[in-house]
Amino acid sequence: MSSIIPVASLGTPRIGLKRELKFALESYWSGKFDQATLQQTAKDLRAVNWARQKARGVDIIPSNDFSFYDQVLDTSLMVGAIPAIYGEAADLDTYCAMARGSQAGHTETCAHGHVHGNGHGVPAQEMTKWFDTNYHYMVPEFTDDQTFKLTSLKAVEEFLEAKALGYHTRPVLVGPVTYLKLGKGVANPLSLIERLIPVYIEVLKALAAAGADWVQIDEPVLVLDGDAETTAALKKTYAAFAKEVPQISILLASYFGGLGDNLEAAVNLPVAGLHVDLVRAPEQLEAVVQAAPKSLTLSLGVIDGRNIWRANLPAVLERLTAAATRGNLQIAPSCSLLHVPIDLNLETALDEDVKSWLAFSLQKMDELSVLSKALSGGNVAAELTASADAAQARAASPKVHDAAVKARVLAVTPDQTQRKHAFAIRADLQRQAFNLPAFPTTTIGSFPQTSEVRKARSNHAKGAIDDARYDTFLKAETERAIRWQEDIGLDVLVHGEFERNDMVQYFGEQLSGFAFTKHAWVQSYGSRCVRPPVLFGDVSRPQPMTVAWWQYAQSLTTKPVKGMLTGPVTILNWSFVRDDVPRSQACRQIALAIRDEVTDLEAAGAKMIQIDEAALREGLPLRRADWQAYLDWAVEAFRLCSTGVSNDTQIHTHMCYSEFNDIMDAVANMDADVISIETSRSKMELLDVFRSKKYPNEIGPGVYDIHSPRVPDVSEMTELMSLARQRLSDAQLWVNPDCGLKTRKWDEVRPALVNMVAAAKALREPA
Ligand code: GLN
Ligand code: ZN
Repeated sequence: MSSIIPVASLGTPRIGLKRELKFALESYWSGKFDQATLQQTAKDLRAVNWARQKARGVDIIPSNDFSFYDQVLDTSLMVGAIPAIYGEAADLDTYCAMARGSQAGHTETCAHGHVHGNGHGVPAQEMTKWFDTNYHYMVPEFTDDQTFKLTSLKAVEEFLEAKALGYHTRPVLVGPVTYLKLGKGVANPLSLIERLIPVYIEVLKALAAAGADWVQIDEPVLVLDGDAETTAALKKTYAAFAKEVPQISILLASYFGGLGDNLEAAVNLPVAGLHVDLVRAPEQLEAVVQAAPKSLTLSLGVIDGRNIWRANLPAVLERLTAAATRGNLQIAPSCSLLHVPIDLNLETALDEDVKSWLAFSLQKMDELSVLSKALSGGNVAAELTASADAAQARAASPKVHDAAVKARVLAVTPDQTQRKHAFAIRADLQRQAFNLPAFPTTTIGSFPQTSEVRKARSNHAKGAIDDARYDTFLKAETERAIRWQEDIGLDVLVHGEFERNDMVQYFGEQLSGFAFTKHAWVQSYGSRCVRPPVLFGDVSRPQPMTVAWWQYAQSLTTKPVKGMLTGPVTILNWSFVRDDVPRSQACRQIALAIRDEVTDLEAAGAKMIQIDEAALREGLPLRRADWQAYLDWAVEAFRLCSTGVSNDTQIHTHMCYSEFNDIMDAVANMDADVISIETSRSKMELLDVFRSKKYPNEIGPGVYDIHSPRVPDVSEMTELMSLARQRLSDAQLWVNPDCGLKTRKWDEVRPALVNMVAAAKALREPA
């Protein structure tokens, strides 16, 4: 069997090996770089990306996968979906204003040539997560009289830029159906499809005129639950493209899951090629091959574009053998490599064994090139053996497997996920024990991470200050925070989390089974990058992680200080996770480790313990049919870590995004004594479901929007609380901000919390 199967890339990380794009953007925003310098940095990064892919054996190289901020925002600029407040010009400054907002009088610092929004400043567009990734896109905004017009030829310019360098690329576009479905502002964004299609046709024609023959169009909506309207929009769109731009061959890309009920529609659209994700949905291979017309090029996504594990190449090959006889194939990563770090070889400090099990974007291209050679009869025996050996070593490694942890997971009994008594009984005991006023006040955990805090941390990491000095510094910060909370009259205090770099990393670094990288950045949004922990093995907690900090903080005050932990589901969802055990199982292990910490905090005297599950909701699977199974194990994990305490120990939890309508039963099942949520922007409407479902436990609905520097005044917060009181009983209600305060400045936090305490006092007064 020796037909050549080309290697295709659907997109690459654009931030740069050393985060060059991040620093260039930030320099531009601060006025240090002019636009030409920023553009040159971007151009250099694109050239490096193309060269690297070519050197690594990628046959089909993408263009227009680069973005200054986000590819959905690029699309909004391409089609002229620029809300009026940002002005008319589809230029870089408008783009930045849509991405980040712009401030009044910002012109002198931002190198902006013109002032938006009459100089009063404009807010950024809303940002949300791209499908089930941790990458955020800018939500397109439409109006009922929305029109579209071609306002940016970025796709064509980047195609020509590559061409000038000698690369014949396959440009990438976000598909029009996906683009519309991600938007807001009109009741039914898909109703705009007929207005949008002509603009895409113009772009495709311009690409054809520039010399493009294939174009990749991403329609990840194909892996969501199918519906007749979306199918109709897809049919209309791709029929129009086939008719109007027959000279362009379209590769329609689906990813992040299987086609499922969209399979028939997808294989029968009038396109030249279809990309399928065979990592998330390996089982769809046979069905796709069977259903697809022979003339349809299939792009098989066989290397994981979402996770960092090295593939077992002989195993992949074996799965491909039958399909390979079909011909008309390409092989590719499961999705764009945007979601993985760039080069494993930068990780010189990583455990050598762990490192030998990983592959980042460049290593994944190497893997594809080996597969392609193997499929076309080339001799890659040594590479295949090395790959299989690594897989075997990983599977057998004592670093991965801990018999005690496995035994403990198996031995979990139902009573370990149950509080001793029902909430009503616990609440009575807790009320007697704490004797808190009505509408007790508290905060969510973190206080401002000032530049001094961050500087001390990085100096400590560099070895510039020793452990003792760092410890003294952190204690002083903590003490100041405790004193101040007492002074302003908060009822339940927090230690401030000054010692934490990040709410997941802090725990991962102290748990066994996690590894940390030095340079493995992935884009979270715009210039913001994160280095997710790598969960590679069975998880246990060698020693207490937070107890000493809690003890220190509690020693300073007679008011209760909450113990503060990150929950198992959030730790899992914000890490690169193992692919050798189900997520549910990894989560259970983390839950047991957190349970140990809860037990130790309680033994040390903590009477209130908060376990944050910021990421529980965002872990919901893309398809509705998979929701319940996820919610079941996620809630079980929370209960496993939180229910081992006595009745008068109060368990708090916190969840950020608070759209709970469709997961209310799961939230209630968590059975936390107190939950704090983010409600200030929604005028407490998010509480409706707590009322309609008769949520019995206590709730702190956020009354202070911590995403804004604005200081809310007392009346605004009492107003919000009165809206909460219309929905829930007074005995249920706490008063707190929306979320942690680490990103705010003390100058904002101080007056806001003083006002919050005053608001609670006002509520306690008889009407
Ligand atoms: N305790 C954390 C903090 O206050 C919670 C943050 C979060 O859930 N995002 O920072
Ligand atoms: Zn939060």
